[in-house]
Amino acid sequence: MSFDTNNNITGTRPELPDLFTWTDDGVRLRSAQCKDCGTFFFPEYHEQHRPGCPRENIEKVLLSGRGKLVSYTVMHYMCPPPFRTANDITPYAIGMVEFPEGISVVGLIMESDISSLKVGYDMETITYELYRREEGFGIVTWAFRVH
Ligand SMILES: [Zn+2]
Repeated sequence: MSFDTNNNITGTRPELPDLFTWTDDGVRLRSAQCKDCGTFFFPEYHEQHRPGCPRENIEKVLLSGRGKLVSYTVMHYMCPPPFRTANDITPYAIGMVEFPEGISVVGLIMESDISSLKVGYDMETITYELYRREEGFGIVTWAFRVH
């Protein structure tokens, strides 16, 4: 499988490269799986996993677009730099989503009513625009919302 880093929504750019991509089926996190021991990675270039694994058989994969909320916390202050966003988004939630592949990934949870969040909810991977560049395009990161 190959991925096109430039396969994004017109007018937006990822804050950091190679972490997620846009597909016809929505936003997907870019992962990799060790075919020797079955471990999934995020980010895809993170290959330090099991002691003793030869780590020679790594294949890039996209994670499912949906997973389950397994933990979250509500933040009442902004993340310090280098995190940057144009808006004060406090209070906001940060949650851990477990994907069917067995890997869990932490991200912003973009919900207007964070008091209604519950562990076990089905979550969808989305992008969130952090800020806009002078050139006119938005800088986005991955995030989750209730599906
Ligand atoms: Zn391995």
